[in-house]
Amino acid sequence: MAKYICISCNAEIAPRERATRFLCPKCGEYEIVRCEKCRKLGNRYKCPKCGFEGP
Ligand SMILES: [Zn+2]
Ligand SMILES: [Zn+2]
Repeated sequence: MAKYICISCNAEIAPRERATRFLCPKCGEYEIVRCEKCRKLGNRYKCPKCGFEGP
């Protein structure tokens, strides 16, 4: 099973956690994963592929 790491805080996402997963809105190639906490706090993320930064 694949492990997901939050892109904002680098924490491992627990299987039951309601994390958000979506493809980078700019390049559409990298899957951005954010934990629930970072989503609530609005922590920024950066796509390692194209450098896109978003809330
Ligand atoms: Zn996080
Ligand atoms: Zn990207």
